[in-house]
Amino acid sequence: MNSTYDVIVVGSGPAGACAAWRLAKTGVSVAVLEKAALPRYKTCGGGIVGRAVQALPIDVRHVVEQGCHTAQLNFLPGRLSFTTHRPTSIVSMTMRSQFDFAILSAAQETGAIVHQRCAVENVSFHDDFVTLSTSSGSMRAKFVVAADGALSTVARTMGPAGGPVLIPAIEYEVTVPHDRLDKFHGIARFDFGLLPQGYAWAFPKQHHLSIGVLSMTQRESDLKRAMAQYLDLLGCGFFTQVERHGFVIPIRPRRGPFINKRILLVGDAAGFADPVTGEGISFAIQSGLMAAESLIDMQLDEESVRNAYSRSVTGTIIPELRRGRVLARLLYDFPRIRSWAFAQHGQRLCEAVTDVMAGKRRYRDLRFTLRTLLRLLSPNGWRTSEET
Ligand SMILES: Cc1cc2nc3c(=O)[nH]c(=O)nc-3n(C[C@H](O)[C@H](O)[C@H](O)COP(=O)(O)OP(=O)(O)OC[C@H]3O[C@@H](n4cnc5c(N)ncnc54)[C@H](O)[C@@H]3O)c2cc1C
Repeated sequence: MNSTYDVIVVGSGPAGACAAWRLAKTGVSVAVLEKAALPRYKTCGGGIVGRAVQALPIDVRHVVEQGCHTAQLNFLPGRLSFTTHRPTSIVSMTMRSQFDFAILSAAQETGAIVHQRCAVENVSFHDDFVTLSTSSGSMRAKFVVAADGALSTVARTMGPAGGPVLIPAIEYEVTVPHDRLDKFHGIARFDFGLLPQGYAWAFPKQHHLSIGVLSMTQRESDLKRAMAQYLDLLGCGFFTQVERHGFVIPIRPRRGPFINKRILLVGDAAGFADPVTGEGISFAIQSGLMAAESLIDMQLDEESVRNAYSRSVTGTIIPELRRGRVLARLLYDFPRIRSWAFAQHGQRLCEAVTDVMAGKRRYRDLRFTLRTLLRLLSPNGWRTSEET
């Protein structure tokens, strides 16, 4: 087995698979190391928002189980409900085992080498290369792309920089009778109010529902209790079969740097999930591609790659996450303002967030600094920069 590459990508989720695809396509020698046997289950709603589809360099329509052109947002205590529609899918529903494997297979077809059941255990640094100790032996590369998810082993070896802020989330794969499943067809459903600082979702798949609950606080929260209530609310309390899973989502990035010692952090390993929704696939894809492009454009020169990747991330993803954080504070930290804002301007807010998820606008295009949020209280209410 060859154990020396230009670039080793650790992790075969969307971040790693996209980075490997881009590198292999340009002829860079690249290997992907994945600790699981492939294709692997990933705890996730499997909702691929339009913004992620736009960023994806390959066609994955064959693994989309259902396209949702409608999103429904319910506020349970106030009995408020908003629905948005778009001509293209707002969320494309997939199972991550299939979605991730489709991108990885494309990477393999372009020349990436995949080592599955190969867990990276340790990293050591040398002047011109990095050595990875893995469950399948030692491997070396000029650069490592750390795409090993929210609990990244590789990121931990980079030094004392602060870790990401992780929140808990659970996902149940629930088989329900087909007549009940039909009720959910084509709709991505989101429900607030089951727990103080979080939300629940119901995503329709071909033969079952992916139902989840997350809490935006790191404090202990009773996700299982909220899930039991939610299943009852959806009329799925008497499901025929259920698989229960839980994991974490990084809703604030690591303190950085995102590249250090010939290691580039991407996706959840960098902490790049959306702070409003917990959606992480868009920025996983974008950062994976940015890392690959920095390596290619700078011809694997350490200093130039470091500058290029830092510039890319801090110029695009970080400002978007920062602006999203302001909206997240409104949604989760100020429930009274949230209730008021949605009672007055709920449809506009939902249209705006739908546009962001669909990739038509960015959080940066929406005017919601804390100052303008207070202006929501004025009779003119919500305005987007396009409207003013
Ligand atoms: C309950 C839940 C629901 C979610 N729902 C959605 C959703 O509907 N839409 C959305 O966009 N996002 C969702 N997310 C977030 C999304 O799952 C992540 O943001 C996304 O998977 C990040 O992709 P990634 O490639 O960075 O990492 P991952 O997809 O986590 O991939 C990391 C890979 O690295 C491998 N790995 C880990 N450690 C090692 C190691 N030491 N050696 C080798 N391999 C290793 C893992 O096996 C894994 O395959 C959800 C998350 C949770 C927890």
